[in-house]
Amino acid sequence: MAKVTSQNDKKLRILPLGGLGEIGMNCLVLEYGDDMVLIDCGVQFPDSHWPGMDLLVPDFSYVRDRLDSLKAVVVTHGHDDHIGAIPYLLKEKKLDIYATPFPTGLISQKLTEHSDLKEVRFHTIESRKKFKVGPFTFDPIPVQHSIIEALAFAIETPVGTIVHSGDFKHDAHETSQGNIGFEPFEDWGKKGVALLLSDSTNAERPGHTLSEMEIRDSFQQILGQQKGRMIIALFASNIKRIEKLLQLAHSLGKKVAFAGRSMHSYTKLAFEQNSLSIPPETLVLLENIGMYSDDKVLVLVTGSQAEPQSALLRISEGIHKDFQIKKGDLVVMSSRFIPGNERAISKMIDQLYRAGAEVLYESIHQVHVSGHGQQEELLMMLKATKPKYFIPIHGAYRHLSKHAGLAKESGVESEHIQIIEDGQLVELSEESLEVKEKIELKKTVVVGTSFVEGSPDVFTQRSNLAKTGVVFAVFMRDAKSLKLVAPPAVKSYGLLYFQGENPDYVAEDAEDHLEDVYYDAVHSGELEETLRLEGRRFYKKRVSHKPVFIPLVLDI
Ligand SMILES: [Zn+2]
Ligand SMILES: [Zn+2]
Repeated sequence: MAKVTSQNDKKLRILPLGGLGEIGMNCLVLEYGDDMVLIDCGVQFPDSHWPGMDLLVPDFSYVRDRLDSLKAVVVTHGHDDHIGAIPYLLKEKKLDIYATPFPTGLISQKLTEHSDLKEVRFHTIESRKKFKVGPFTFDPIPVQHSIIEALAFAIETPVGTIVHSGDFKHDAHETSQGNIGFEPFEDWGKKGVALLLSDSTNAERPGHTLSEMEIRDSFQQILGQQKGRMIIALFASNIKRIEKLLQLAHSLGKKVAFAGRSMHSYTKLAFEQNSLSIPPETLVLLENIGMYSDDKVLVLVTGSQAEPQSALLRISEGIHKDFQIKKGDLVVMSSRFIPGNERAISKMIDQLYRAGAEVLYESIHQVHVSGHGQQEELLMMLKATKPKYFIPIHGAYRHLSKHAGLAKESGVESEHIQIIEDGQLVELSEESLEVKEKIELKKTVVVGTSFVEGSPDVFTQRSNLAKTGVVFAVFMRDAKSLKLVAPPAVKSYGLLYFQGENPDYVAEDAEDHLEDVYYDAVHSGELEETLRLEGRRFYKKRVSHKPVFIPLVLDI
């Protein structure tokens, strides 16, 4: 007889595949019985530990092992760290995607860059219109963030309601997307929330985020005093800030030009979907701004993080085809300096100064506010939902840990708070939230649009090559007598020699030395390893670092 599992025995499995204990690559598995959904499916941009890699995407092994269970991906909003990996999941399986129009448009654009994808079916969701996927009923709740159409979800499951905050902040003065407040969360809180999963990105920052309206006032002031051309760098996804700048420019009789590929594509999509209004006779082409006097010209540009190939970086280097910095230009960095990018940004700012511009940025002028709520806003979410259990999401470990502290402060029992990281499976039942096994995840690496396969060792090897350079040594020998038929040949690449060393002499000395080593070790049974160790040891004395050393023994 088949084992009968009553609904009550079943537990909701929750597994973060990314975004917990790290910034970016947000992806959360919700699984009940044979039904699984993913909330978000984002990418991460690799740092210097991943030389040459373009993107990191979540490890889909857990999903791949249960592909039939996967019912849908449900999207909170259109930032790349929430949608960027969807095309890569579409290499595995045809998918149902639930998203609002803006992220749907962004995902569709991404899909056109790939050729080997399975079929996709989009389901358009609207705020506060419930929809059902398997045993889950989603209530999409609008939240404020640095992109339009950002959502949180209240999700009714067989073991209780969970609330996933998405990325959110609270800005009572910003009403461009209607009044967005905590009432829906309070309503769910009254009905009973079993588990809250909430954004921790700014959990270290005390107080409340500044209002976007203060940023607008700040810009109004700067634009009112504008003498030279003004270049504003911001994320192209921040549609509402772009709209405010367009309105301000219009009211002051100024012209706006866009620079950067994503500035064009994001604003085009938002405009087509009626999410961005562009005042008449305000937008002009970048190549035509010379027709207007400098104090009337505003350029909105991407590249605030000094990303390679970005418009602002190319402008700073003087290699942008339509725009060159000149004396009197003012560049405003209306974005945060994302950790890891600071050096590149600071170098870019120097270049802009060198070219004659003045540069304003967040730390010296109020020209940016984050899209993620600070401590007071996080407490508002906790107090509205009054969850029984709490798991902080979206953040490095220290952010999760701070957020856990806030939850305790708000009244969640400390044994009901779990700080977990990627790969940590938890199970929610009506009685408990239990931490189960940890699943080992390895990031999947993308170059171009293709996965590349590689164990963690490969990335260590790559880093080593970059740090030390490489030496090859070829030993050609007679297969029978094992005598070398020619002296060893040594070739090196990427070595830094100590001052006074001549690379040719070093190579000759290495060849002599390795010939001796060869004859000493030829019958030892550990010939290659000995050659490798001796080769490295030899080079250590003549170059900056022990290089990667590859001996090749060829029998002829
Ligand atoms: Zn976001
Ligand atoms: Zn995010």
